[in-house]
Amino acid sequence: MVLPLLSPTRRDSGLLNLLAGGGVLAVLLAVLTWDGLRDVVAALTGLSMARGEMLSLLALLAIAGLIAQLGRRIWTMIPHTRFSAEERRILRALPQALARGEIQPHFQPVVDADTGQVVAVEALARWIKADGSILPPGQFIGLAERAGLIRLLTKGIMEHAVRTAAAWRTHDLDIPISINLSVEDLEASDLVDHLIALCDRHGVPHAAIRVELTETQSIVHFDVVDRAVATLRQAGMAVYLDDFGTGYASLSVLHRIPFTGIKLDQSFIRRLRDDPRADAIVRASVAIARDLGLALVAEGVEDSETRDRLGQLGVSHIQGYVYARAMPAHDIVDFARQTQPALTLSL
Ligand code: C2E
Ligand code: CA
Ligand code: CA
Repeated sequence: MVLPLLSPTRRDSGLLNLLAGGGVLAVLLAVLTWDGLRDVVAALTGLSMARGEMLSLLALLAIAGLIAQLGRRIWTMIPHTRFSAEERRILRALPQALARGEIQPHFQPVVDADTGQVVAVEALARWIKADGSILPPGQFIGLAERAGLIRLLTKGIMEHAVRTAAAWRTHDLDIPISINLSVEDLEASDLVDHLIALCDRHGVPHAAIRVELTETQSIVHFDVVDRAVATLRQAGMAVYLDDFGTGYASLSVLHRIPFTGIKLDQSFIRRLRDDPRADAIVRASVAIARDLGLALVAEGVEDSETRDRLGQLGVSHIQGYVYARAMPAHDIVDFARQTQPALTLSL
């Protein structure tokens, strides 16, 4: 491809060769990475300088660079290159579903195994269809992240969660609600300020809302996430590192970002009963949390045997089917009433 550029035998045909070769070169360069493109530009510029054709070559390469960038942008904008037909159908329906309030959180209790009381709840997104069927988050959260719609979704869940916290408080139910945030939520938007303002608008104390940060292996801008977490904590919100132990960078993330607590990943909890290695990992995590002064929640606890073993290891805050699955807001009121009989609640 580069040969016509480098081997014109006559001076007057050099420019023609250059143009012909440049067309092919433009296409070739369109598939190169930007770094690769820069290397090629540097090499060819050096060669062409020696031939006194630098200006025309540079012009061609500049065009090639633009084509490469434009091509990549258009490629990623064409939905059928990234999403299956089913995924495109979900994505088309998502903004409308959010606007209609069809995507809303259910709430799963975190229970203190020592007292049996609900100490927090986690807001977990559910897409409730018009026919009453429920789509779990696994079918639309990752998709929303890939399509750049996660912030819209997070805002919707935040709004529901803060309103729910406000409603519960009017009935003397003071249980912190955890909201799941993706790294992208913290890295590239004003969502933190939005969450704080939302609480203020609804008269919800900041401590009534917590944040769980998921997918931390994809943190690119540590400084931005660090600042966002610090802002949340200064505002009085607890921030948990979710799925602790799964990302290869869990420890480094814990080291660099000032979390309030960690949520031990379900994969260890599920194997706790019959896998000594899972037991060792949980023990080590408990030690880390204790030494760093972090709160600890174990999630995915399905049976009393696992809950009791966690108790022996010093973990008392338990989330899992052993107590309850995620449920609508008004069912939490009944659930809390059963575990805290002193409350006289009605919604
Ligand atoms: P997660 O944050 O780790 O949430 C815990 C998941 O484990 C929930 O699944 C919960 O229903 C499930 N779970 C809890 N206890 C048990 C148990 O004892 N056994 C079993 N088998 N499962 C249990 P869910 O609701 O399907 O959510 C899946 C994931 O989707 C969440 O994992 C979270 O990463 C994501 N997600 C859910 N809602 C949101 C949201 O509003 N925003 C974002 N960014 N992600 C969300
Ligand atoms: Ca979570
Ligand atoms: Ca988790």
